[in-house]
Amino acid sequence: MSFVPADVNSYETAPTSVGPAAPVTVPPSGVSPSAPPLVRTTGSAFPPVTAADLETLRAHHLIIPAQGVTADKLIDSFDDLRGGTRHHEALDIMSPRGTPVLSADDGQILKLHNSVAGGLSIYIADTSQRYIMLYAHLDHYRPGLAAGQVVKKGELIGYVGSTGNASPAAPHLHFAVARSDNMKEWWKGTPINPFLVWRGK
Ligand SMILES: [Zn+2]
Repeated sequence: MSFVPADVNSYETAPTSVGPAAPVTVPPSGVSPSAPPLVRTTGSAFPPVTAADLETLRAHHLIIPAQGVTADKLIDSFDDLRGGTRHHEALDIMSPRGTPVLSADDGQILKLHNSVAGGLSIYIADTSQRYIMLYAHLDHYRPGLAAGQVVKKGELIGYVGSTGNASPAAPHLHFAVARSDNMKEWWKGTPINPFLVWRGK
């Protein structure tokens, strides 16, 4: 599947008419069977995610992209259902409207997008061109932000809001990470749980 807010969404009020739940992949060898699955293959067209991807992302020392939020405040919502059978496959970082949203990593902006589900969204490729990070439900972008721009980790890119299908009473940043092998297809990728990057055991 895509991790896009396009309209096959995994957002807050996903339609109930979407397809069957994606199968959960058996963790790769070397991972304890009791460990939570890192991977949900959502389509054979997308690159597989392994434990090595999570280790790689941890080595990037991503910052938590809502300013002022610390890891102990994060709540894992990756596996939550969003209407029917669709999994959320992202991390909702609750934060007051207007909170600065900072790029979690160094990278390049692939796309500024606006969709019914995700609202104002930013897709950013990391410097390895393997991971795409999505920031959604923004109140507004940083003025002047545009596709193609290079951003540094910690750089201001926008502000927390509730655009798209987020509840106006609960502004938050919807942050998703996907493994990709084609940065031109910014809406595609295999989701990785960002919570495990900061709070993995
Ligand atoms: Zn969300």
